[in-house]
Amino acid sequence: MTLGKANYAKTLIGFVAMLAMGTGCAASDSDASESTASTNQEIISNLVKAGFPADDIMEVDGVVYVGRDAAVSLEASREMLQTDGSNSKEQYRTTNLVSSSVSVICVNGSAYTGTFSTALDRAISNYNNLGLSFSLRRTTGSTSGCSATITANLTSGSAGGSSGFPSGGRPYNAINVASSTSQYGTSVVTHVITHEIGHTIGFRHSDYYNRSISCGSGGNEGASDVGAILISGTPSTATVGGSLMNSCFRSSETGNFTSTDVTALQNLY
Ligand SMILES: [Zn+2]
Repeated sequence: MTLGKANYAKTLIGFVAMLAMGTGCAASDSDASESTASTNQEIISNLVKAGFPADDIMEVDGVVYVGRDAAVSLEASREMLQTDGSNSKEQYRTTNLVSSSVSVICVNGSAYTGTFSTALDRAISNYNNLGLSFSLRRTTGSTSGCSATITANLTSGSAGGSSGFPSGGRPYNAINVASSTSQYGTSVVTHVITHEIGHTIGFRHSDYYNRSISCGSGGNEGASDVGAILISGTPSTATVGGSLMNSCFRSSETGNFTSTDVTALQNLY
């Protein structure tokens, strides 16, 4: 995958550097194993800093693996700490996710009528069609049978929306979408609602490291205190239209997940 490709390039560079250094690379067996131990310590430390849970990291025969089957080189682990580098462009999640014990997330859509009501139904279907570990259920305020509830609000101001990230194993409890978003039609409103629900269950922006990719301007949002953990299996580059979780939307949005959004969701839930 991307990680492998980056590793390959780095390995070549490292190999050339070793040749240039001549005998400087020749080490006794004991030096080599000491070097491996300290290298692996740094790799593991970098993986933890990058947000991987410690119990997903293991060392076998001097090689560090993450997620049980992906070997990680020192360079790759360093790249994971670069939030503005050219090698860490994947889809991202927060440190906190929704607990697997949350089976029904209710969405109180009582404030939504017309375009917003139709779009909310479509957004809920976007998630429910994927057979995730939770389902979304539209309500008008009842919390019966709900593991958690997200309240869908309408707000004033320019088109777009806002929401928050999970905490305590529960999704954030509200999404806010500007009434003026309806000027772009049902598909764009569906996109914005689906996007805001995405944040409530732990998605960061796919282009969080460089908002100018989808917004035309702006920089790196940073890991902040919520974390920005790459989701394995998602693409190596954020592109315009490449993810429903890009920072900014276009008037041409379809309201549907991209294939990599689906990969990311099925990976997490
Ligand atoms: Zn967003």
